[in-house]
Amino acid sequence: MNLEQETKFLMKKYNISANKNLGQNFLINEEVIQNIVKASDISKEDIVIEIGPGLGSLTAALIEKAKKVIAIEIDNKMISILKDRFSLYDNFILLNEDVLKINFDNLIKEKNIEKDKIKIVANLPYYITTPIIMKLLEDKVSVTSITVMVQKEVADRLTAIPGEKLAGAITYCVYYYCETQKVMLVPKDSFIPSPQVDSEVIKLNIRKNPPINLKNEKRLFQIIKASFMQRRKTLLNGLSNAGIAQKEEIKNVLDLLRIARKHKRRSFNNRTICRNCK
Ligand code: SAM
Repeated sequence: MNLEQETKFLMKKYNISANKNLGQNFLINEEVIQNIVKASDISKEDIVIEIGPGLGSLTAALIEKAKKVIAIEIDNKMISILKDRFSLYDNFILLNEDVLKINFDNLIKEKNIEKDKIKIVANLPYYITTPIIMKLLEDKVSVTSITVMVQKEVADRLTAIPGEKLAGAITYCVYYYCETQKVMLVPKDSFIPSPQVDSEVIKLNIRKNPPINLKNEKRLFQIIKASFMQRRKTLLNGLSNAGIAQKEEIKNVLDLLRIARKHKRRSFNNRTICRNCK
């Protein structure tokens, strides 16, 4: 049985239909799974945290490669399938939780996990891609890399280089914490059901040190947010309306940096930004 047949078989056996509200698009392309596993560079020393294992297609490959796989799944229906499939493996831990509510520090302590051996691997639920990535980065969860499937246009934004046309507030947040890398484009027909958009696998390698030394990270993210939020305003007005500093002071700094004060913000389709930027 190939992966597509196996997925259809499991869905029929357990009377499952994909829940759109939970972003369920199940991977049926074996080659994509192998490429995700290869890119995430897992060894028998590594602890993998998989977000949203679903029916377990990627999970099965991860269990083979990793020392331990901790899978976090919100949907009870998936939980019973995953238990049936993998509970006999002693390197598999299943958590029936909402990933956005997980306290990763506690989890790491409870499971007695070595901090520099944790890798995140996932075909993410697209409706919460940004909150998940920002939670992992801002909570400074001790992971070395995050290899994830996301919507292609989100991949473009997450991996853009600051200053590029595609860059948004999220680009700067991710750039601050990670070196980014595109792994592969994934066509719609690699999933059941097919999503409306193409997907891409990206890898975020967590930096040991941020690219700039800051006393106040929070302040940086406030400025980034203010710069991108009020897109019809000039940079000067945007920053001063957000209360970053007095207008005169901002004017002086922008002049000093030779940044055009009247520069209008570009428009951004996806205006979701990181929690620090709120
Ligand atoms: N990994 C599977 C695969 O590749 O076929 C399924 C991926 S599917 C795109 C996303 C998965 O994330 C679903 O199983 C869904 O139930 C789960 N999910 C959605 N929201 C979640 C949340 N807040 N916390 C944990 N899992 C979630």
